[in-house]
Amino acid sequence: MPACLFCQIVNGQTSGRIVYEDDSVVGFEDIRPKAPIHLLLVPRKHIPTLLDLEPGDEMVIGHIFLLSARLARERGLMESGYRVVVNCGPGAGQSVYHIHFHLLGGRRIV
Ligand code: AMP
Ligand code: ZN
Repeated sequence: MPACLFCQIVNGQTSGRIVYEDDSVVGFEDIRPKAPIHLLLVPRKHIPTLLDLEPGDEMVIGHIFLLSARLARERGLMESGYRVVVNCGPGAGQSVYHIHFHLLGGRRIV
């Protein structure tokens, strides 16, 4: 088993409330939601932080932003708005070292 929690979710070795998957990305509900809608979108590839992105990762990162718009639309967030956040490093509050994009909405995000 890989030590990385999100690799385990991506590989189906740990249960996650998965809402989306394709060849390169998996989306699942955050276990401690900070908004009525709080999804995590992760590349299947293990990339620890934003600082570890490499040439060739552009496609999956762009794909995640398009996907976040699609998931936000499907959840009716067009009017109210939503936020996509990536924390990088302990000083920014990153706690899981497999890059993940928080999609937050369903309440006023200040
Ligand atoms: P960050 O603090 O930016 O690294 O975000 C990590 C996020 O992962 C937090 O919002 C946690 O609530 C969430 N999280 C931790 N463990 C799990 C899990 N097993 N399933 C889903 N989300 C998780
Ligand atoms: Zn990982």
